[in-house]
Amino acid sequence: MDHFVLGVDLDGVVADFYGQLREIVAEWFDRSLDELPVDPKDISEWGIDGQEEYERIHHFAVTERKLFTTMKPIPGAPSVLRRLSDNGIRIRIVTHRLVTKRIHQPSIIQTVKWLDHYGIPYWDICFLGEKSAVDADCFVDDTPEQINRLAKSGRHVIVYTNFTNSKIEESDLIRRADDWGKAKELVEQLRDRHSW
Ligand SMILES: [Mg+2]
Repeated sequence: MDHFVLGVDLDGVVADFYGQLREIVAEWFDRSLDELPVDPKDISEWGIDGQEEYERIHHFAVTERKLFTTMKPIPGAPSVLRRLSDNGIRIRIVTHRLVTKRIHQPSIIQTVKWLDHYGIPYWDICFLGEKSAVDADCFVDDTPEQINRLAKSGRHVIVYTNFTNSKIEESDLIRRADDWGKAKELVEQLRDRHSW
């Protein structure tokens, strides 16, 4: 039997990555949380000076602050994913969390613990950056480069709205969801009608 497969990104889509990272960055620079904007143009506005410093903070966040187990879920994500799964949709987690070198073991362990802790169902989990190498009937993602690459390879993509992707326009293959209620509607529409 053919199942509809939903490829689901984690950070910024199911897990409140930026909310938690903001708190850790405030701690790193010994600044009060209010000084760091909730919706920055990009995270350099939080005082992070380039890729190298970002990677140091990211490494600290995962190894010392257990970032991937302490994040809150995005509101609605766990319950909507449970509902979609109960209705026969296969959840395939597709995450680029191994982007940071030398912390693969804690990244993977924290990720699966977190998914269990919040009761998030999944059939498969893929840790990779080249998401278009994965098959799915629809993806949910928040990163512009990933969204564009997936759409270019002919995949349907739901943009999960946050400050990183405000410039992404809708198209035949791209739709936008500001919350998980809307994402659910779009997934069900695509499954039932094979188009948007
Ligand atoms: Mg993401």
